[in-house]
Amino acid sequence: MAAERVTIEGISVPTGHFIGGEHVASEATFETRSPMDWSWKLADISRGTAATAQAAVSAAVEAFPQWSAYSVGERAACLNRLADLIEANKDAIATVECLDMAMLLESLKLRLVPRGALNFRNYADIIVAAEERVWSSKGTQNRVIRMPAGPAVIITPWNAPFMLSTWKVAPALASGNTVILKPAEWSPLSAALLSDFINEAGFPKGAFNIVQGFGHDLGSALVSDPRVKRLSFTGSPATARKIGHAAAENIVPFTAELGGKGPFMVFEDCDIEAAAKKAAGQFDDSGQVCLAGTRLLVQNSVMDAFLEKFHAHTDGHVMGDSREAGTTMTALIHPDHLARVAAFVDRARTNGDEILRGGKVHKEGGLWYEPTLIRPKSNDSEIVQHEVFGPVLTLQGFDTEEEAVALANSTMYGLSGIIYTSSAERAERVGRAVRSGVVWVNCFLIRDLSAPFGGIGESGIGREGGDYALDFHADLKTLQIFEGSVS
Ligand code: NAD
Repeated sequence: MAAERVTIEGISVPTGHFIGGEHVASEATFETRSPMDWSWKLADISRGTAATAQAAVSAAVEAFPQWSAYSVGERAACLNRLADLIEANKDAIATVECLDMAMLLESLKLRLVPRGALNFRNYADIIVAAEERVWSSKGTQNRVIRMPAGPAVIITPWNAPFMLSTWKVAPALASGNTVILKPAEWSPLSAALLSDFINEAGFPKGAFNIVQGFGHDLGSALVSDPRVKRLSFTGSPATARKIGHAAAENIVPFTAELGGKGPFMVFEDCDIEAAAKKAAGQFDDSGQVCLAGTRLLVQNSVMDAFLEKFHAHTDGHVMGDSREAGTTMTALIHPDHLARVAAFVDRARTNGDEILRGGKVHKEGGLWYEPTLIRPKSNDSEIVQHEVFGPVLTLQGFDTEEEAVALANSTMYGLSGIIYTSSAERAERVGRAVRSGVVWVNCFLIRDLSAPFGGIGESGIGREGGDYALDFHADLKTLQIFEGSVS
């Protein structure tokens, strides 16, 4: 049996699963290493099997009657206590995720881990404030009741693992569903720390379970268990297709938040300096961001001015240890991912796309890739049409607004869009014309947690966030009561 904990930089981290309120370990393990120094093995993590999946689903099934019967106030109290514990352990969570995924430590401390706590607080507030919709018609009173649905399986990707896991777990628990969370195998550690807070936060045993392992065995056993009533996934379209098959088999509602290839549209009337700075800022975290506007679409009349400023900002990037304050570009998560990013750029080169900067590994032996800008031979080039998920942007010029919108909507994705313009009319027109789940005008990555979040096409199905996630996690019922005399 594997060890149940490991100490990393003085922080004790669970290495097993958390099932039915207990830490348990598997026989088999897998390694997690630090992208900043691949020779540094951080931990051996329990590798769950189909039997682990079954045990976790059983625990969630058993806990469901108790957790779903908690009053809204009791549920909110647990969510708020969990948020308190995340805040109290913010630095440890940030450090562990920085080592495990190489996200920038400062941004983890200031933004992403606090956002993890906020995800729980936000849903505590939402369920307390929520009112049932009631109206009268045809002599009856109609009420819409949200009934907790049952155990929910939540599968998360390796980027921003703590924030993304909490984003998805919070509405499920707030709805009265029990949860089985499976973090990604490339960055399992920060979500594992959550398991230390669950009992203390007051959740009944089995209400929130965490299992560790790979997608093709543990993950697929979880999503195909017929006792599971909701599937909430973030990751790649290829995996979404597999989970979608399992959802179809069991007729289970399924949301998928997937990849993107967002247009970053720069119009001649915009603040070019602001646009160039934000565009180059997308190399932060080495572009491992689903919402990134990786296709720069720049009006030809301001192309030179934009490029000059873009290059100046890109020159300011520092590749290095994510724990150091000056670092802006992180190591990529895994050697396989580095190879994937490099292969994309090599194929672009072979295709005749023009590499305007970067296009190579930063330093042999490390996992950093240089900030890369590519002018594609045509809009059909693979580098324009497919998500790279690394520090690689493409550059295309346009003359007219119509041309810009046509380019923006020319991929199979539709997660995000970014528009830089000083014209309110253009913002309105183009903002409505771009087909994606979110469009930002003169800003990027600002989120309101009550807004719907999700994608179009290969970027996903369903919406999470605010009431949208509560509707997804509930079985909605219409309770209709005759308002006249019943005698
Ligand atoms: P992935 O699809 O390879 O893996 C995601 C998760 O699915 C992992 O936990 C994995 O173990 C699990 N999994 C794999 N096969 C499975 C199966 N058959 N059954 C059940 N689970 C299975 O994705 P990834 O490489 O970890 O993540 C990167 C992708 O995620 C990118 O495409 C990125 O754009 C996307 N992403 C989207 C969002 C969003 O909010 N839209 C956010 C972050 C990342």
